[in-house]
Amino acid sequence: MIEVIKGDITTIAADAIVNAANTSLLGGGGVDGAIHRAGGKAILEDCIKIKNKQGGCKVGEAVITTAGNLPAKYVIHTVGPKWNGGQSNEASLLAACYRNSLFLALKNDAKSIAFPNISTGIYGYPKEAAATIAVDTVREFLGRQDQIDKVLFVCFDKENFMLYDKLL
Ligand code: ADP
Repeated sequence: MIEVIKGDITTIAADAIVNAANTSLLGGGGVDGAIHRAGGKAILEDCIKIKNKQGGCKVGEAVITTAGNLPAKYVIHTVGPKWNGGQSNEASLLAACYRNSLFLALKNDAKSIAFPNISTGIYGYPKEAAATIAVDTVREFLGRQDQIDKVLFVCFDKENFMLYDKLL
């Protein structure tokens, strides 16, 4: 089941919520700032451990941490591509964010996962193209497994909500 809501992902009680992080994993603005603020320092402590072990997270990849004080069980941090005109592999990197996040959720026995609209804030990815990739990638992944039974797209702005609502 795939659903869309307009809201704040820090309030969602899914097994895993996804963060649109940056390669340093040390926090930033947008949804990243909101998740660290609401979840408390346990999330940053886990991120620092991962950074010390593997040097951060590459664009298109994902790592998993505690969700600290959030109602979710885990935060999956993935790094979206910065929009650079569309000729820098942005589309396959964005699809990889969704696929690798779902794969980590699967590995950690999560049954429900909530996504923000990765890359469509500070990173400037055109919203309609990003929404199409998100929905297509999630649909394809869900069709290949039966553990994850709920994917929620949490849209912070009305434009994204309308786009996802139309696609779904
Ligand atoms: P990126 O750097 O990947 O673009 P941003 O955090 O700037 O990441 O934006 C990604 C998306 O997250 C944007 O659509 C933005 O509106 C949205 N966003 C910002 N705060 C929240 C929040 N609390 N919950 C859900 N989505 C949010």
